[in-house]
Amino acid sequence: MSLIRRASPLTALLLTLAAAAPALTPAVLTEARALRDRALADDTAYELVRSLTTEVGPRLAGTPGDAASVAWALRTLKSLGFQNVRAEPVTVPRWIRGDARAEIMAPWPQPLIVTSLGGSVGTPVGGIEAEVVPVTTFDDLKSMTRAQLEGRIVFFTFRMERSRDGAGYGKAAAARSRGAAEAAKLGAVGMVMRPAGTSTSRTPHTGAQRWSEGIPPIPAMALSNPDADLLEQQLASGNPVRLRLTSTARWDGEAQSANVVGEIPGDGRADEIVILGAHLDSWDLGTGAHDDATGVGIITAAAKLAGEAKPRPRRTIRVVFFANEEFGLSGARAYAAKHADAAERHVLGMESDLGAYQPFGLTARVAPDRLPLVRAMQSVVEPLGIDYLGTEASGGADLGPLRELGMPVMDLKTDAAPYFDLHHTANDTFDKVDPALVRANVAAYAALAYLAAQAEGGFGRLPKVEKPVGPAVAPAMPAQR
Ligand SMILES: [Zn+2]
Repeated sequence: MSLIRRASPLTALLLTLAAAAPALTPAVLTEARALRDRALADDTAYELVRSLTTEVGPRLAGTPGDAASVAWALRTLKSLGFQNVRAEPVTVPRWIRGDARAEIMAPWPQPLIVTSLGGSVGTPVGGIEAEVVPVTTFDDLKSMTRAQLEGRIVFFTFRMERSRDGAGYGKAAAARSRGAAEAAKLGAVGMVMRPAGTSTSRTPHTGAQRWSEGIPPIPAMALSNPDADLLEQQLASGNPVRLRLTSTARWDGEAQSANVVGEIPGDGRADEIVILGAHLDSWDLGTGAHDDATGVGIITAAAKLAGEAKPRPRRTIRVVFFANEEFGLSGARAYAAKHADAAERHVLGMESDLGAYQPFGLTARVAPDRLPLVRAMQSVVEPLGIDYLGTEASGGADLGPLRELGMPVMDLKTDAAPYFDLHHTANDTFDKVDPALVRANVAAYAALAYLAAQAEGGFGRLPKVEKPVGPAVAPAMPAQR
């Protein structure tokens, strides 16, 4: 199926309106459409994904792979002709996964496939053994009593719904990020969960969790979906089900990492910045292909191609590969803190962190009087299948702190259903990346970044959020038992 669909009458009308709008000249709109089409024939991004997954692979914060990815990023951006290429230091927590095993001891002994959640502590040598108490959702835990949980292993059974907008993820991830800490408060000795992900293979989805201050941490693991099914089948017998958990996961202090930055300098308004973000780190089970090597490749190729357009971009297009998104947004916070004084000069932000799947929509959180400009920009990417879907844009996790400082953001909506089949699993590897879909994403980001760099009058500012820089999601180092 062609990625270009025929222009609708609405598109034609919008193109006319856009041509008449003062923010974008007809020459710029024409060039943006040509840029979009050139990007559909360019495999720079796909080759970058191949390179990062093949030559670096897993790159969990603080590991040798993380350091290798920073070196890869510096030499890659330089070799592609980016300017002001630099590593901005970021301190990251270091966590070692070790081995994790789970075994049903009764009523019918069987091994289960599990992986530790990021930040989990290990078990004593020999493991822990206890009866399993099923709880559906994180919210359901609130109605449980200490008598029900003390000395037991909590099993969160909630199944993430598979959908194009990925809305089921947040609901499932609540138990992952806070379930073990809350269960520990009620005396639980361990936590296992149906994963926050939709893989039907025996591949568990890992992800970050955090601890509550002053609560001794307990081992926390994700099952694969088929293993969660198996555990539920045994529970359905009505017999008490006992599990043994064994894990050598541990924390190992802090390490130095970096945000890697490169620029296409603007021609005339170089001090104004259009920022394109992705994250350089990944979980360690796969090679972080869709999460987020594709994002790194897409924004890099998009910026490079936009920089080659004529007339040249007036504003600077800055790509930022953020450090440690997965395990506490360390890079996002460090960037916002370092560049807080320049926040006003960040005219617009976009982030690619949902893999490389079919784009279908554009949302934009900008000053309300700048929405006609957004519609003119959307008209250029509409032939890629991208509809205007309103103002509910977040800018992604890494741009959150800048958005809170007032930076307008746009989100490219892409099909999240296949993404959450392999998100944070060992299956997130290069073979799952479709070069045609990578090109479609690059085409959208290139055209949008170019138009944002040219638009007269910019996007206004958002209301500032009155709180310290960045959401408080860093996983606190657990108190030692
Ligand atoms: Zn990601």
